[in-house]
Amino acid sequence: MMDWQALGARLEQALQKKLGAAQATAMAGGDINQAFRLDYADARFFVKINRTALLPMFTAERAGLEALRESAAIRVPEVYLTGSDGERAYIVMEYIELTGRPAPEVFAQQLAALHAITHRRFGFPVNNTIGSTPQVNSPSDNWIEFWQQHRLGYQLELGARQGFDHALLDAGEKLNDRLAEFFRDYSPLPSLLHGDLWGGNQGADELGNPVIYDPACYFGDHEADLAMMELFGHPGERFFAAYAERFPIDAGYAQRRDLYNLYHVLNHANLFGGGYAAQARRMIESLLAQTGD
Ligand code: ADP
Repeated sequence: MMDWQALGARLEQALQKKLGAAQATAMAGGDINQAFRLDYADARFFVKINRTALLPMFTAERAGLEALRESAAIRVPEVYLTGSDGERAYIVMEYIELTGRPAPEVFAQQLAALHAITHRRFGFPVNNTIGSTPQVNSPSDNWIEFWQQHRLGYQLELGARQGFDHALLDAGEKLNDRLAEFFRDYSPLPSLLHGDLWGGNQGADELGNPVIYDPACYFGDHEADLAMMELFGHPGERFFAAYAERFPIDAGYAQRRDLYNLYHVLNHANLFGGGYAAQARRMIESLLAQTGD
């Protein structure tokens, strides 16, 4: 069991504020961590806990949430504390009452504003995780090499260790070698990305404002965030129309979308197995068919 009293003492120290007695309520929904609502007489927090060894995952999440917050483009929870009590690692942040979906136009405008935040290089100052898989963010000037090495190549290597079948791995390597073909007339900017923007990591606050959380941030092609939004659902045409008014979407996006989503499908295959490896194989074959033989 989590020692909520000890955590409360650290939180009081971090906030320089007396909080009093707490009540912790387990929340459903987290894929990776145990989530809790922590209630005090006049404050409420959102807490995630996991094994102590996973503290770097929370410090990286904090770095991502802080980068997103600094952009001031879109609402993200404020992080107050990360740490470990020797048995459990935790992250404590602002509790935001999530009430459903934001208006697609507003979300689109705010996401485009986030993506307008750019950096000199691709990558991020810290490595983080995608699901529970490590995500390497070593800075690079070259997007194609970055994707080859730290995204597609990394997942293929993990897959090789997991014993993915050779046909899948060979086709994946072939695709990775041909990556430049998808970028013939397109050089993306290093945009600040959420990095894991499926429907479960976005919502609206009490006022209907968009909120994003649980990021896997890095500076990369804005199309990678858009693609992820289409992987397990679809944000709708109103979203895309409003987004494109603020941040034009290149004509080659539809082709690169599957390339970007392949990273997440391979990650799911690595994490969960099941039909994801077959889905990855189909995606790779269809992408390879679009390249020169
Ligand atoms: P995990 O890292 O385990 O995937 P999430 O960060 O996705 O966990 O959080 C789990 C669920 O808790 C989310 O799906 C969302 O419904 C809710 N949630 C996330 N962040 C907050 C927050 N700051 N305030 C209130 N609820 C939150």
